Amino acid sequence: MRWVFVGASTIAAQYMIGAVRSQAGHDVSWIVSGSEGRVGEWAKSHEIPNVTTDLAKALTDNDASAVYISSTNEKHHAQAMAAIEAGKHVLCEKPLAMSLSDAIEMTGAARNAGVVFATNHHLRCSGSHRKIRELIAQGRIGQVLSLRIFHAVHLPQHLQGWRINDASAGGGVIPDITVHDADVARFLLGEDPVDVVAQMTASGMGDGVEDSAMSVWMMPSGAMVMSHESFTHPFAGSGLEVHGSEGSIFARGVMTQEPVGEIEIVTAEGREHISYSSHSLYEQGVADFVGAIAGQGRPAADGIDGIKSLAVAHAVREAAQSGTRVTIDYGGF
Ligand code: NDP
Repeated sequence: MRWVFVGASTIAAQYMIGAVRSQAGHDVSWIVSGSEGRVGEWAKSHEIPNVTTDLAKALTDNDASAVYISSTNEKHHAQAMAAIEAGKHVLCEKPLAMSLSDAIEMTGAARNAGVVFATNHHLRCSGSHRKIRELIAQGRIGQVLSLRIFHAVHLPQHLQGWRINDASAGGGVIPDITVHDADVARFLLGEDPVDVVAQMTASGMGDGVEDSAMSVWMMPSGAMVMSHESFTHPFAGSGLEVHGSEGSIFARGVMTQEPVGEIEIVTAEGREHISYSSHSLYEQGVADFVGAIAGQGRPAADGIDGIKSLAVAHAVREAAQSGTRVTIDYGGF
């Protein structure tokens, strides 16, 4: 299967080209970029044969049946709609779009066109998160009472561009990281947050957008979720804890792009180290997407998952801006 990549981005270069090539018979045949001057060299270094600044041109290639979109966030909607209209399957980066209505339109268009549409929420593809979900589902910690997500990291210098200073491109830590944490909470607990309270601030990096946020979400079961995201914390380390009536799960270093981190479960029987699969998160995500195209299962995160993570992120920002508790609007999903 041949792929069109849209956006000569860091994530494409670091993970997604390799993830596509790890699937037998798959390769990237086009790179579509807005930067004519830069993309030629980029394509050469990644051995991608076709380069264009015209998405429509790449979409006329009948040999290419999948499109991966990793442009800046404000471009996702129009690019995904064009790819869907051309009959391509689409794996789109998070956040799916700038507005919930755009994300809903993308998902609906894909359903009507009969193509697979997925959101690249990589954390639910990791062995660690899948293992934690399994432990919870097996009842190892009893009834879940709370989830704490620690996702305050340090944005590396080379990514300190639109994320920290361009609201119109979808900058800010909430669209960047809170969407992932919303997806993690939904994936692990199997339910959607109902409402949120939140605070956000700029703590050294954000210029016109927030670089740090803390929020608390209520789940339908009564479980509470505490979520912390930041671009400015060099030494905090990431992780999550799930606390239940019969035990607690402690996962350190697992909110990351790599298959790393430690999981422990503590119950009345004592403390147990938990092992898990160390496969690549992004290769797993692409494999699940390719499987869904072949009619085997569903993508790791589909369009509705992308809509819901965006809805939570929007509610967090609204709650922080207004200083009030905000009920999450999932747009009917
Ligand atoms: P980058 O800033 O690296 O790239 C974003 C866009 O900016 C590119 O598509 C490219 O557009 C342009 N660009 C990239 N590098 C340069 C440069 N040196 N000079 C000028 N323009 C440049 O962003 P990321 O790769 O970090 O993020 C892209 C998307 O992927 C976002 O939606 C983000 O949220 C998502 N993402 C998802 C991750 C995940 O784990 N699921 C992880 C990281 C990001 P063009 O080619 O059109 O010029």
